[in-house]
Amino acid sequence: MSRRSFSRKDRAHIFALGNGCCHICSGKIGVGEAWEVEHIIPYALTQDNSDDNLRPAHVKCHAKKTHGEDRPRISKAERQRAKFLGIWPKSKTPLKSRGFERREDQAHTILGRNR
Ligand SMILES: [Zn+2]
Repeated sequence: MSRRSFSRKDRAHIFALGNGCCHICSGKIGVGEAWEVEHIIPYALTQDNSDDNLRPAHVKCHAKKTHGEDRPRISKAERQRAKFLGIWPKSKTPLKSRGFERREDQAHTILGRNR
């Protein structure tokens, strides 16, 4: 998850953008309360690190959103892409080899009597 590390200055700026409130639950982020920079639209989908896509969020709310909302969205996007590329879903019919000739057929082939 090396998207971008946020400096203290960046964090102060993002905190101000969100008016000191968690953008997920809209609750105030208290003094000394743990919070994280959150991507409104998951970074994995847009690679958007602009101010428009960044807001502060409680650590708890952030984790909940990441696992409950973002992860499924990202997985879905990945599946759609795989489908588009024709590499998903895997075929249900296993690839079969053409099999082996029966013994007598082989003998005919070797002796050239098969034609
Ligand atoms: Zn919150």
